[in-house]
Amino acid sequence: MSGVWLVTGGAGFIGGNFVRLALREAGVRMVVLDALTYAGDLGRIDDLLDGSRVEFVRGDIRDPGLVRELFARHEVSKVIHFAAETHVDRSIDGPRDFISTNIEGTVNLLEAARAAWRDDGDKVFLHVSTDEVFGALGLDDAPFDEGSPYRPNSPYAATKAAADHIVRAWRNTYGLPAIVTNCSNNYGAWQHPEKLVPLIILNAWEGRELPIYGDGLQVRDWLHVEDHCEALLAVATRGRPGETYVIGGAAERSNLDIVHAICDCVDRLKGDGTASRALIRHVADRPGHDRRYAINFAKIARELGWRPRHAPEAALPEVVRWYVGNKGWVDRVRSGEYQEYYQNRYGAP
Ligand code: NAD
Repeated sequence: MSGVWLVTGGAGFIGGNFVRLALREAGVRMVVLDALTYAGDLGRIDDLLDGSRVEFVRGDIRDPGLVRELFARHEVSKVIHFAAETHVDRSIDGPRDFISTNIEGTVNLLEAARAAWRDDGDKVFLHVSTDEVFGALGLDDAPFDEGSPYRPNSPYAATKAAADHIVRAWRNTYGLPAIVTNCSNNYGAWQHPEKLVPLIILNAWEGRELPIYGDGLQVRDWLHVEDHCEALLAVATRGRPGETYVIGGAAERSNLDIVHAICDCVDRLKGDGTASRALIRHVADRPGHDRRYAINFAKIARELGWRPRHAPEAALPEVVRWYVGNKGWVDRVRSGEYQEYYQNRYGAP
């Protein structure tokens, strides 16, 4: 396999897990480009930065000169594009950074790839996106697939949808060998504590209230981050340029189901008679909160032989142990700006 993989957002939750997997499984060289926003943390990959196979560049995908320069300095054969503003709640509070990073940043990368890639060769521009671009499903609707219409509801989802459309236009207009993946909710190690699974694990462990939006019956299709990264590696190496693949966990569960499962794991781990479910507090629902997402991943299963390996109930005990065992990292990520964010959103703990 020749060339360098440019991994944007590789110091984030999924990007960091992906860099680890790609290094182990695909033996590639990578340049990780990440601005280290509040969500980025080099601690996720710093043990991999010995200079030989992974180079880290702190920089912003909104800077077209920097992005072009990276393509000029390296023979980039694949772009795995994770970098984004990702938290729906923050997109409701302030959508501007979502627009500039998720849309304009993506355009900068597409333009740099278009200028640098004279022949397709083994080139791939993999745009990592979300199932939230498809909006909400009713309880009886068929799951999303590659032909689902776009109906984004949150500012976050709208910016990801815009980027998906732009990627599509660059592949159809300029012939860029681009692939889009739309994936469901991820959980696993190294996720920022603002997201539901780590938030609930840490609050339950610390005996703090467990804030649940509305009735908590919003259904998501939960996918272990390692399964997602395996799917992305399969798409990056064997996927067909020009295609879209939806990726899901075959695990439709309500938020409340997941919270209950986490509480039970925490209680078992503590083993002192704690009943964490008593800490659940229903708070005002998120505006425009989608009721259900679900994924029909038959295409990637058929074409690339990928299937999720984890089910949430079986995987969550290890995930809970990971957060409890990595309190140093967790506390560092939760310090500073996050304290203020948490208090504004949920009040004092
Ligand atoms: P994350 O918030 O944990 O990480 C995002 C990373 O991007 C961070 O390291 C951050 O520093 C970096 N970044 C942000 N703005 C940047 C900029 N302007 N320039 C350079 N770097 C910047 O996100 P995640 O959960 O790992 O998600 C990664 C990607 O996967 C996103 O594109 C997201 O839309 C997509 N996705 C996420 C999920 C999920 O459940 N988390 C599901 C489907 C798709």
